[in-house]
Amino acid sequence: MPIEPVRRQPLKEQTKRRLLELIEKGDLRPGDPLPSERVLSERLGVSRGTVRSAVQFLQALGVLEVRHGASTVIARRHDDRDALQAEWRNWTARNVGRVRELLEVRRGLDAFAAELASQRRLPAAMQEMAAAVRQMHAAMRDNDATAAVHADVLFHRTIGEATGNLALVELIDLIGNEVMRERAALWTTPDRPKLSLDEHTAIYQAIADGDARRARAAALAHLESVERDIATMTEEQAAGTEATRGS
Ligand SMILES: [Zn+2]
Repeated sequence: MPIEPVRRQPLKEQTKRRLLELIEKGDLRPGDPLPSERVLSERLGVSRGTVRSAVQFLQALGVLEVRHGASTVIARRHDDRDALQAEWRNWTARNVGRVRELLEVRRGLDAFAAELASQRRLPAAMQEMAAAVRQMHAAMRDNDATAAVHADVLFHRTIGEATGNLALVELIDLIGNEVMRERAALWTTPDRPKLSLDEHTAIYQAIADGDARRARAAALAHLESVERDIATMTEEQAAGTEATRGS
């Protein structure tokens, strides 16, 4: 059963948004505990599984944190953009070696997935892929980094789904979930949103056209562009840190 219903993703996105509202309106501060999964599921009117997946997404972005291996607390408020952006950039700088390794693996995985997706093009996944591009467009218009990351993760997942190979979807998810902060950090650099939208559109078009060679090339071009921008971002950040320390 590789393909799930189309409305699954919007529901997840809605749950994530309402969870953020709850944190903001409930005036939860950094360090405060997040209400339990059961309470949240009742208040939001969605299943506990949907709550769990929204919580996991916000954990991966650094809004929520698991403390002492048990309770989930508010780490940073979603509306505190400076604090979140600093967390994303610091995380990326600290983990740059790992990020590079994962990007190297993605060259093989994403290029292969795009190629195979262009040959199989499972219809439900193709619709979700197009929806992810539209979500990315809206995120750019609203200057909303977390929505952009959500759309990016969804987009790459739908490439796996379009192949009908569940193992491939799992691998894409595994890698994608590990680099959420890197994706968010990158989105906040000057030219990235527009570049990102163009690159994902090119991948989508090639897959939709059934052009395996172009799909592969577009997936690789996207990763190379991300690698370049990560290098620039971490170099600038290192230079900034040096300047702050003084000579
Ligand atoms: Zn991407």
